[in-house]
Amino acid sequence: MTTLFLDRDGVLNERIIDGYVTKPGDFKIIDGVLDAMAIFARRFDKIFIVTNQQGIGKGLMTAEDLEQIHRFFLNEVNQAGGRVDKIYFCPALKSANSFMRKPSIGMALQARREFEGVSLRHSIMVGDTATDMLFGRRAGMCTVLVGEEKEVASSHPHLVDYYYKDLYTFAKNIEPAIKTICQK
Ligand SMILES: [Mg+2]
Repeated sequence: MTTLFLDRDGVLNERIIDGYVTKPGDFKIIDGVLDAMAIFARRFDKIFIVTNQQGIGKGLMTAEDLEQIHRFFLNEVNQAGGRVDKIYFCPALKSANSFMRKPSIGMALQARREFEGVSLRHSIMVGDTATDMLFGRRAGMCTVLVGEEKEVASSHPHLVDYYYKDLYTFAKNIEPAIKTICQK
């Protein structure tokens, strides 16, 4: 069974530098993401979002606010022919050193526990930071870097299997990564 893990901010929606998405109006979907999600729905058995959201731990938003944002996004994805099987989020502060917070792999293990057949070796992690790449690598996944921090691929070559400029470009060029996880 093939599984896709997606980071959220900077991959699906535009990152707010030094700030947080606290309401659906702040959630700006990156161009091509909905088309990419429709492609992924045909290629992966399971699709998860794994996102650190310490804005909750800081009291800047509630879990209910986050749920509203995610309901908005999932509705857009579904309407475009895509699918997300579950969104995992970690509300803990960075300073709490939670095992559920990336780059620790608690969210990946939880998904494997909750969905029969999920194999982390046969999974791809897509993210826009070194933290995401470390999370994917530690969990034994194929790692795909997207977005503006291209230098992560050259500064941490052992963490990054593939780089594409955005999620849609990855979706259109998905064969090498699929081949990597299917050959394992
Ligand atoms: Mg991110």
